[in-house]
Amino acid sequence: MISAEKIIYLDNNATTQLDPAVLEEMLPFLTSRYGNPSSGYRFGSQVRSSIDLARERVAGLLGCEPAEIVFTSCGTESNNTALQSALQLDPKRRHIVTTAVEHSAIRAHCEQLARRGCTVTFVRVDRDGNLDLEELENAITPQTAIVSAMWANNETGVLFLVEKIAEIARRKRVLFHTDAVQAVGKIPIRLRDSPINFCSVSAHKLHGPKGVGALYVHRRSVFRPLLIGGNQENSRRAGTENVAGIVALGKAAERAAEMLGEAQSRVRALRDHFEQEILAEIPDTFVNGGRETRLPNTSSLSFAGIDSGAALLLLDQQGVCCSAGSACRTGSLDPSHVLRAMDLSEERLRGSLRFSFGRFNTETEVEKVIAILRRTIEKLRRLSPSPEALSV
Ligand SMILES: *Cc1c(COP(=O)(O)O)cnc(C)c1O
Repeated sequence: MISAEKIIYLDNNATTQLDPAVLEEMLPFLTSRYGNPSSGYRFGSQVRSSIDLARERVAGLLGCEPAEIVFTSCGTESNNTALQSALQLDPKRRHIVTTAVEHSAIRAHCEQLARRGCTVTFVRVDRDGNLDLEELENAITPQTAIVSAMWANNETGVLFLVEKIAEIARRKRVLFHTDAVQAVGKIPIRLRDSPINFCSVSAHKLHGPKGVGALYVHRRSVFRPLLIGGNQENSRRAGTENVAGIVALGKAAERAAEMLGEAQSRVRALRDHFEQEILAEIPDTFVNGGRETRLPNTSSLSFAGIDSGAALLLLDQQGVCCSAGSACRTGSLDPSHVLRAMDLSEERLRGSLRFSFGRFNTETEVEKVIAILRRTIEKLRRLSPSPEALSV
């Protein structure tokens, strides 16, 4: 097995390292504090208090009320729950408006709904990855059940103006959901007084464990649960709580709130330094996505004349973890639907790599990766000259 000490992890949009403080907080709930939070005795009710604290911490990070937080098993479940809830409210509303660049946790679900009789509009993006808000507004009809647009794109880091989109949806009296899995902990979020109805969160993208997430449900939004059973989570999500996971998400949220300044300054500085050096040292390199309205931690780059699959292999041999397009597509030759939606050339699609930084990355690591990447891209270009180079 490859040990964590030997790698440089620049794939923080795929998952993140568990914060040791989070592990410490969750461990007792996997050992001695195993009571069921629904039990009446103190051994259970004390566990319930820990869940309440976690709810307050997550609400703190999102700028909302604790009662508006529903814990789920992951970001995917949160996304599924929001769409399914909206579709249950009115049988005449069988239309969904979403975007062409959503994570598969929205996209594949919408494609399946389309096969089952719903209609779905995937609003396009421009070459910078930005939405045309007028096109989005025109896509909303009286049959639209919900509009769903991600806050931050997992591949490019491009940010959508979700508050504006939510405003448009509200004016048209349609529910709005945002997949904020990549945004939470990286940029300031304040859901209080916002027109957003639903907002998805995942713990493992903010230095928490895998397998736990949350869905923000605005206190005045009508909501139908996805899982039916016991009355956990105020009857909004049945199933005995993943206590250790929930406690961990709470701690991760608290840490993320404390570290938000650092995420926005130190992590941004690492990303910016990396990107500037790469652009300066490696010719024919391009940044994918508008550089202005972007997450502070993400750098999606295209290197002309290389194949990203081959690059990943060589980088892996040198201990560098990054990704080509979306992590879910590794092993498939399908170019990323996000970059394709941005209408990039075949060459740019083929040579795209995503580097995503986090608070555990260091300047030394970034310097190492810059050197490794320069050598690797040179080698690949020597091995397989670009079509233009062949034709001269
Ligand atoms: C990772 C991710 C998800 C899925 O979250 P899980 O907790 O892994 O199910 C959803 N949306 C975006 C944008 C993501 O990056």
